[in-house]
Amino acid sequence: MFTGKKLKDYARLVLEIGVNLQRGQGLEISCPVERREIAHALAEEAYAMGAKIVRVRWNDEVLENINYTYADQDALCQIPKWFIESKNELVRENFCLVSISAENPEAFKNVPANKLAAVAKAKSKALKYYSDKVMGNAIRWCVVSVPTSEWAKIVFPNDENCEAKLLGAIASTMRLDYPDPIGEWHKHIAALERRANFLNKEKFEYIHFQNSIGTDLKVGLAEGHVWLSAKERAQDGVYFVANLPTEEVFTAPHRMKVEGTVKSALPLAENGHIIDNFSLTFKNGKVIDFSAETGYEHLKNIIEHDKGTSRLGEIALIGKNSPVSKSGILYYNTLFDENASCHLALGKAYPTTVELGADASKKELTAAGVNDSNEHVDFMIGTPDMSVCGIKPNGERIVLMSEGDWVI
Ligand code: ZN
Ligand code: ZN
Repeated sequence: MFTGKKLKDYARLVLEIGVNLQRGQGLEISCPVERREIAHALAEEAYAMGAKIVRVRWNDEVLENINYTYADQDALCQIPKWFIESKNELVRENFCLVSISAENPEAFKNVPANKLAAVAKAKSKALKYYSDKVMGNAIRWCVVSVPTSEWAKIVFPNDENCEAKLLGAIASTMRLDYPDPIGEWHKHIAALERRANFLNKEKFEYIHFQNSIGTDLKVGLAEGHVWLSAKERAQDGVYFVANLPTEEVFTAPHRMKVEGTVKSALPLAENGHIIDNFSLTFKNGKVIDFSAETGYEHLKNIIEHDKGTSRLGEIALIGKNSPVSKSGILYYNTLFDENASCHLALGKAYPTTVELGADASKKELTAAGVNDSNEHVDFMIGTPDMSVCGIKPNGERIVLMSEGDWVI
């Protein structure tokens, strides 16, 4: 695990660049039990920065698996009021939220797909208010990672040093190998903003993806869409970075204007299962056909989760020369894999990616083409030979990416 200067730099980066914790503010850390030392380091650093209080939500996949195995589905689907309230309170109290994502991608391999889907549905329904608020940047949040033993074994199978290797990979994607990681992040954020500004000036109607494995997809953009990158503004006016690492420039697709077929470029680890080599075909914005070599049932459950999960809620562009992509490692964790490849998301769009913003009514957002759902599931589509064009309302095409990398 990180120690010494690296551990301090990690905590500093997460709290300063990530959630941008302010003096007198509360902090909640969601942390795997196995990695309690990270929560301790973050808590120490948070208090040094003037935090009011630090609370930790421990995650334990082994215990969760025991529950999935022995408890009835009905019991699992009853989400306790105190649990919902404990989440909603974070919004009311303007807490900062650090979420450490370090799941074992096969944690729930033994649990029937239907049981998992039913519980996920009950949970996302119960937490709709909370997730709407978080996705609308009502509070500042940041997803980061550290290695855990079961996850590391899957990333580097049959390798005694798997945890150390995963740690090294995470450190380099977070730019922790530099003497001044925070300075590096300021430079990186500015470079991403330059591209977002270019895309915002061009006001494209469609983005067209093509590659040799069979992707030919035109994604219409929502009316008044805004391209965002690393640095976002929360409702209290304070800036933050929601993912560390992040390499993407992203916006809201138009929920009714997606046409063609897209093939997955990387496996998708979702809810303790892996979905791989899949394909989605869209018409008028909706998935009308899909296939998967691995995890078909799980893909089906995602698409049929609710009315919004058969439409797109995010389009994100990432070049093949991002540090995550260049590492060549398949992480089976969306935080990393989505930063190695252009991606799309099924489900809810970020209301912050349209001019209307998070205060607009659901009706206004829907009219502008912004998708809504209880879920948001990213999947990777960018290959090293991907070409990406922007198409203007007058039909003019501008090449944005060629051979998988930016040309703007
Ligand atoms: Zn994204
Ligand atoms: Zn996303």
